[in-house]
Amino acid sequence: MASIDSMNALLVDELRDIYDAEKRLTKAIPKLAKKATNDELRSALEEHLDETEQQVQRLEQAFEHLGESAKAKPCAGMRGIIEEGEEHVGEDYDDDDLRDAVIIGSAQRVEHYEIAAYGTAIAHARLLEHDEVVGLLEESLEEEKNADKKLTEIAESVVNLEAANEDEEQSGSRRRFSASSGRSTAQSQGRRRSNSRR
Ligand code: FE
Ligand code: ZN
Ligand code: FE
Repeated sequence: MASIDSMNALLVDELRDIYDAEKRLTKAIPKLAKKATNDELRSALEEHLDETEQQVQRLEQAFEHLGESAKAKPCAGMRGIIEEGEEHVGEDYDDDDLRDAVIIGSAQRVEHYEIAAYGTAIAHARLLEHDEVVGLLEESLEEEKNADKKLTEIAESVVNLEAANEDEEQSGSRRRFSASSGRSTAQSQGRRRSNSRR
């Protein structure tokens, strides 16, 4: 592997890392969305998938500005975050709400990692006065921050505490969900059955 001999080469290397992370996410986000029960959460993830696909294109534009080929360099950090997320989400949950809460936690870890990576790359691009690249990366950073904020909002409403507490009090009895959880009892029971088959 060629050595990184300049600030410019370092920036290209950082972008290749982020490029790999974003491409992985275009495959990981749909999996998370599929496991989400809450409508608001699912649509937030689906919206962010669209944004992620645009972020991949923005990185390709950034490589073009820099006169470099769009090559991905494996991002071990994002690979690990995705792997851990899949592990946590795949555990057994008594309530779909609880799985949704875990999905949010996994997605927010992703967003924070991206926010860090874009923040550094923007600072380096600015130092090198690559204004177009700064602009492209800032657009994506804004989307990551908004996605994170949205997830925080959903986190505060996704768990139906009444239903979750009911479970503790009447263990063994059929759980009921109030209308506030955004789905009917029949739907949530159907989903629970389909989840238990996985
Ligand atoms: Fe992203
Ligand atoms: Zn990385
Ligand atoms: Fe993101």
